[in-house]
Amino acid sequence: MNTLSVNLDLVRKYGGQGPRYTSYPTALKFTEEFESDRLIAELKEKAQSPQKLSLYCHLPFCESMCWFCGCTKIVSKDHSKAEPYLDYLQKEIDLYKDFINPKSQAVQLHLGGGTPNYLSPDQIDRLTDILSQNFHFHEKAERSVELDPRRLTQEHIFAFRKMGITRASFGVQDLNPIVQKAINRIQPERTCYEAVKWIRDENFESLNIDLIYGLPFQTVSSFEKTVKKVIKWNPDRFAIFNYAHVPWMMKGQTLIKESDMPTPETKLEMLKMVTELLTSHGYEYIGMDHFAKSDDELAKAQKAKTLQRNFQGYSTWADTDIYAFGLSSISQSDSHYRQNHKALPDYYKALDRNELPIAKALYTTEDDRIRRETIMRLMCDLELNYAKLSNKLGIDFTDYFSSELESFKEAESDGMVSINNDVLTVSDMGRLIIRNLAMKFDAYSKQNLDRFSKTI
Ligand code: SF4
Repeated sequence: MNTLSVNLDLVRKYGGQGPRYTSYPTALKFTEEFESDRLIAELKEKAQSPQKLSLYCHLPFCESMCWFCGCTKIVSKDHSKAEPYLDYLQKEIDLYKDFINPKSQAVQLHLGGGTPNYLSPDQIDRLTDILSQNFHFHEKAERSVELDPRRLTQEHIFAFRKMGITRASFGVQDLNPIVQKAINRIQPERTCYEAVKWIRDENFESLNIDLIYGLPFQTVSSFEKTVKKVIKWNPDRFAIFNYAHVPWMMKGQTLIKESDMPTPETKLEMLKMVTELLTSHGYEYIGMDHFAKSDDELAKAQKAKTLQRNFQGYSTWADTDIYAFGLSSISQSDSHYRQNHKALPDYYKALDRNELPIAKALYTTEDDRIRRETIMRLMCDLELNYAKLSNKLGIDFTDYFSSELESFKEAESDGMVSINNDVLTVSDMGRLIIRNLAMKFDAYSKQNLDRFSKTI
C-alpha cells in the first residue's frame, strides 16, 4: 500500500459509534440468564473430538492505575496477591480437563491483563509449568504477551521466552511527559527503548506498540513527535487507538479533565497525520486501528485472505475454539460465548465450589453465525466474495443479504467500496471506516450504540 491520503470529509460523514467486533454478537448481548446445563452439555459434546485451541490467560494485577484504562484490572503493590491467583487459575484449568479432548492442540496462547509482567519471573515459570502440563502445543503455535515496560526486567523477558512467547506488545500511548502526567502513566522514553532492546535481543518475531490519540494536552504536532520517535524503534506493528472518554463506565477516567482533551476536529487531524505518516513509512493499514509492515505475518495473511479475528486480536489460525481463563475472560465456541466473573471474590468463590467460574453466556443462532463470518471476512479480507461465502455458509449470499448489499450504494458512490456481480471490495479509504461498513451486517447494530466507542 502506498501512502494513504485521508479525506476527512468522508471520515466525518461515515464515522460514528460502533463495536470493534471481537465477537458477534457483541459482549453486550451476553446474559446472566443462561442455562448452565446446556452449556456443560455443549462443552462435553465438544470434548468428544480433538479441537484446535486458542488459549487466553487474564492476569489482572497492575501496580498503578492509568486513568484512561478500560481493562478489568486490580491495582495493588502487594505482589503476593498473584500467588493465590495462580492457584485459582490452575484450579480453573484443572476443571476444564473434563471439557477438552486430550488430543486437542493449542495453536494460540495470549497473556493479557492487567499486566502479565506483574508476575515475578518465578511466577511466570510456574504459569509455564501449568500450561505445559495441561495442554499440548502445536509446534507453530502463536504465543504472545502484553507487557508494561515500567515493570519489566530482562529476567521477565527470559521467562516469557522459556514459555515459548515470540510476540510482544506494549503501550507507549504518548511520549510527551505532560500527557503522561495527565493520564497517570509516567513512562520515560529510555524505559520504552530498553524494553524494545530486550525484546529484540531475545529474537521475538514480532513487536507491537500501542499509541492513543485524543489524550489530554495532545496536539497534532506533539503527537507527531511521538509517532516519529516510535517509528525509529522499528516495531513490526502499531495499534493506534482513539481514546474513548466514557467516565460513566470507566471510573478512572473521571480523573481526566474533559477541558484538557483535544477537540474532535483535532483528533481527526491526528488520525490523518498518523495514518499518512505510518503508511509513508512502509506500514500497511490492516484496518481496525492496526498497522503492520508489509513483510509482517499480519499483512501477508491479509493478502492471502487467511487472516482471522477474535478476542485475542488478529490470528492466522482459523476455526479455533477459545478457552479463556482468569478474571472476566471470554471464551468462544461455534455455538456460544461464555464470560467469567469480573470480581475476584466471585471468581474465587465459584472455583471453591468446584464450579466453572462463568458469569454470563450467549448461545449463538444460525443467523448470528452467518453474520459473524460475514463481518469477520469483511474486516480481515477487506472484501466479500459472494460465491465463496455462499459455499461456506450454505446460503445464497446475495439473496440472504440483498437489503444489506443494497445499503452500500452511497458508500460505493463515495468510493469507500467497489461492487460488482461477484465481490464487494473495501477501498483504501474504506479501511478507515471498516467498523461502520461491518455494522451494515449487524442485526443488533441499532441497540446500545451509546455503549460503543467512536469508530475513528
Ligand atoms: S493500561 Fe495496562 S498498566 Fe495501565 S491500568 Fe490498564 S491494564 Fe494496568
